[in-house]
Amino acid sequence: MEETFDVAIVGAGPAGISAACLLAEKGVKTIVLERGEYPGAKNISGGVLYGHDLARIIPDYEGKNCPIERNIIEARLWFLSRDGGYSLAYRDRIFTGAKKFNSFTVGRAKFDRWFAEQARAKGALVVCGTVVTDLLRDIHQRVEGVRTDRADGDIRAKVILLADGINSPLAAKTGFRPEPKPHQVALAVKEVVELSEGVIQERFNVGPGNGVTTEILGQATQGMNGVAVIYTNRKSLSLCIGANLSDLARYKIRPYELMESFKEHPMVAPLIAGGKPTEYMAHWIAEGGYEAIPQLCGDGFLIAGDSAMLFNTLHREGSNLAMTSGRLAAEAILEALKNGDFSRNGLQGYISRLQNSYILKDLKKYRNFGRFLETHPELFTSLPEWASQAAREMITVNGVSKKVKQKIIWNQLRKEIPLLRLLRILWGGWRSVK
Ligand SMILES: Cc1cc2nc3c(=O)[nH]c(=O)nc-3n(C[C@H](O)[C@H](O)[C@H](O)COP(=O)(O)OP(=O)(O)OC[C@H]3O[C@@H](n4cnc5c(N)ncnc54)[C@H](O)[C@@H]3O)c2cc1C
Repeated sequence: MEETFDVAIVGAGPAGISAACLLAEKGVKTIVLERGEYPGAKNISGGVLYGHDLARIIPDYEGKNCPIERNIIEARLWFLSRDGGYSLAYRDRIFTGAKKFNSFTVGRAKFDRWFAEQARAKGALVVCGTVVTDLLRDIHQRVEGVRTDRADGDIRAKVILLADGINSPLAAKTGFRPEPKPHQVALAVKEVVELSEGVIQERFNVGPGNGVTTEILGQATQGMNGVAVIYTNRKSLSLCIGANLSDLARYKIRPYELMESFKEHPMVAPLIAGGKPTEYMAHWIAEGGYEAIPQLCGDGFLIAGDSAMLFNTLHREGSNLAMTSGRLAAEAILEALKNGDFSRNGLQGYISRLQNSYILKDLKKYRNFGRFLETHPELFTSLPEWASQAAREMITVNGVSKKVKQKIIWNQLRKEIPLLRLLRILWGGWRSVK
């Protein structure tokens, strides 16, 4: 039976559910359509969420049994060569004793389900196991509903929010946004390794309920533009590694091969020793950045979250941009409902809200970062190797004077990377993030 709603949302990820919570709370007749058997069934994430953005949707999320794995109290950054690596870590008492968490890990299958329950409690209809296969348009090409794979499954709505993530067959079919090009997406694989709570706490030097994030650059991706991460969950570790799709095609390396050699690295192996792999997944990451953001709204529709390429590659933030863009889309929809104008003009409030938020400000600031990584492969090859050799030389006590050691390191650097090229890398890196 064909039904009419004020708003139909495609996708029950963080973007779609955030919008649904706020719309339903205001009495707007909202339906969320999710292709997974349940919200989160098709989702994967390294698992870090940010309290600030979630609290704007569910202020007392901790009191509502949000399925938090561990509160993050320390951020580590590793720069790896093949056989070694540097580690930089920052821990702060303020995160340990925080009443409101800054960031925490979750399992998306549990979190997305819980989040959707909050939207349902506010009055949104969340329908799972339903694929949106097409957009319905009127004679003026204005979007006025969605077609689903259910029998008689057409749904009319005043506004459609497309929150269907980066991998969108719907976008490919309808062209509501361009298909991402291979260099605009990374393919990441994730493995969950089960360990006991005590072992994780001991290996990461944290107390019960606290955890650590580790972001990893350098040769872990075997010369390809990419990153790896290790996040602590309560009784498991999430290991993710991914590289740019165009690099994966060029280097002909399979993602699972990357994961296997990553797990054998001397800085990784002791952390997962004795652990039991329990889940293995693969997913795209929206890494196109500011230049790849599509037209964010049109007549009768808006796009939020990963589907709109709202992902901060440098800081590995996506879930918070998804939640906040969902919230801003909901605010713009409320405005359009009040004015009775669902045209592109009537939904423009979404764009101005995004422009005034940290989302577009941050993505604009880092607009050249992706290109910088793409054009400086040394960051993933010779530079980590040289940096490791330098540390190895200085640490090794072998009767050679420090002055001679410095000369060896300097000569090695000049052999690996011409000085002018090194200066260009430093200058280019600075300019891409300043
Ligand atoms: C390996 C990995 C690690 C990550 N780690 C982090 C991290 O630690 N922290 C962080 O902030 N971000 C991380 N991200 C990014 C983060 O997961 C995304 O930015 C975030 O999930 C985007 O939310 P979204 O709601 O826009 O899209 P999604 O979470 O992808 O949700 C989209 C939903 O739409 C549904 N859908 C799609 N098409 C249809 C259709 N046609 N009909 C019905 N339903 C449909 C999907 O099933 C899905 O449930 C990571 C991503 C990956 C891949």
